[in-house]
Order: sequence, then C-alpha cells, then structure tokens
Amino acid sequence: MASGENKLIERLRSAGISRAAIRAAWPSWWTDEAGATPSGRAELRFALARRLGLEPKPLLGERVEFVWDDDVKFKHLSAGDEGQRAALSSFGMSVGRLLLRATAGPPTRTVSSDALRDAILRGSRFVDLQSLLAACWALGVPVIHLRVFPLEAKSMHAMVVGMDGRFAVLLGKDAAYPAPVAFTLAHELGHVMLNHLAEAPALVDVQDPARFHDSDSQEREADQFALMLLTGSPEPDIQTNLSSFNSPTLAAAVLAASGEYGVEPGTLALCLAYRRNAWAVAMSSLRFIYKERKRASDEVNQIAETELDWSLLNDEGAHFLRNVMFGKDD
Ligand SMILES: [Zn+2]
Repeated sequence: MASGENKLIERLRSAGISRAAIRAAWPSWWTDEAGATPSGRAELRFALARRLGLEPKPLLGERVEFVWDDDVKFKHLSAGDEGQRAALSSFGMSVGRLLLRATAGPPTRTVSSDALRDAILRGSRFVDLQSLLAACWALGVPVIHLRVFPLEAKSMHAMVVGMDGRFAVLLGKDAAYPAPVAFTLAHELGHVMLNHLAEAPALVDVQDPARFHDSDSQEREADQFALMLLTGSPEPDIQTNLSSFNSPTLAAAVLAASGEYGVEPGTLALCLAYRRNAWAVAMSSLRFIYKERKRASDEVNQIAETELDWSLLNDEGAHFLRNVMFGKDD
C-alpha cells in the first residue's frame, strides 16, 4: 500500500475490514504517480470496491457501503459477531465469484451422499481429504483455503458461495492433519447438495459444525450428509472395546479398525469423538495416526492452483486471488 490514501484506509478499517484484506485487494499497478491523478485515485477505489464487495460510488467519497449485507445465511452466529456480517459476506462473495469465473462449467449436478461415496471409492481406499477435493473439482465446485481473512478476528470456519446454480467453497479454519478439514468440506458440500443455498447467495458456518451441534435442521442434515459420505452411515456406530481411551490407544484402535470400516483412520477417530463427546482426545490422537504434520490448507490450495483456469481472470483478479490463497507479506 502506498502512502497518500490514509483516510481511505482508515475508513475501510473502521468499517471492520482487516488490514490483510485491504493489502490483498490493493491493485498491483498502484504507484505514487497514480495517486497524484484524480483518475488514478478513482480507479483505485473501483478496484478495491470490486475486490472487497463494496458499492463503488460511495467509495469515491470515502464512504464504505457493503454490497452483500442482509441476504447471506449465517450458522452459529453469536450476537457479538453481528456487526461483522457485512464485511465477511461481501469479501466472501467477491472471492467466491472470482473462483467460479475461473472454473467454467455447467450448473452443479445434485448428487446424493451415498452415490458420491460409491463414485469416490471406485478410485480410492477411503473418502479422505484428497479424494474429496478431487470429487469437488470434478463436480465443478472449486475449493480454496483463505490465507487472508476479511476480519482481524479469524471468525469464520467455512463458507459456500453460489452463482447461477454453481458453488464455491471457502475454507477458513486450518488444521495440521487432513481429517478435520475433510469433515468441514463434506459438511459444506452437504449444504450445496441439499439445496440449502436455494434462497441465499451464500452460507457461512461461523463455528466448526462438527463441534457445535445445535437445533438448526440444515446443520443436522449437512452433518448427516458428511458422515454418510465419509463413513457410509449417517450415524456411524463405531464400536470400540476400549472402555476408556487416551490419545495413543485411540490411535492404535482406529488404525487397526480403519480397513474393516472402510473409513480413513483420522476420520474414524473424529467419528468416535462426535458420538462420545471426546473431542480433545480425538484431536490429540491425530498426531499418533499421521506420520507427519502437514497444513491441510497447503494441500487444498496446491490442488486449487492447478485446477483453476487462471486465463479466465484478468491480471488484477488473478493477483487478488493469489494474494488471498497464498498470503501477501509485503
Ligand atoms: Zn453448516
């Protein structure tokens, strides 16, 4: 970001937009010379408005008005988050629409969780993060992990954005192992396939749906879709002869049982956590299940980078999307 536009930056910040998001959206062509001309300053405001989901005309007068305010569906939103809805919705809509523009294809086909599981198991031992990502891209549903968050507090677990019958998934929460992210992705795909975006342009899961069970019927349906897809049963009955378990014994048990159940071991541990309310033990068992720690977001974004058709975006759109996926340090 160059100097000279401090008032604009201050206005964006006080509307709740994070410094990282402003930096990612800042156009690459910007120079002090551009800032010296009225047309350069206007172009800057149009570019920021496009990327951050703001109304362009008010921004010319340094007024921040979000394009996407009331329509987006929020799940598990606590009262304290209310004021941040518009910034989150608008940024997410802008990123999601860029992804869909870079993924040409027909409207997303509706597939049931068991049909999708069968299709994936034809080419893979388990439904795991990697095979699930491949299935999403094959269905024309782009998936990325956000390295840049619209808000200073990283208060978004995941989001689905729709446009013309097509959908994109934005993952917010990272993990050192793939199973928790596979569950989130399967849950978001559930929202898509169960038509939960019929009357909303986007849906935000503010909290981790696997951990915060509530009375929202769409949340329960999406959880069941995810469990069916990942395990073959909407209510998997994972038997263990361990009356009590700790992280290493749970890890050993799921590694032994994984083949029999046809469920990826980390996912099997999380299923047990889901049913027995033993989340902390299951999460710490992951380090005994997997040989190495590897950020799930790296796998997600490496696949996205090769699957996206970058030639369908203009330079500025591609610049912004890369910043959002890979971060911007300067
Ligand atoms: Zn949800």
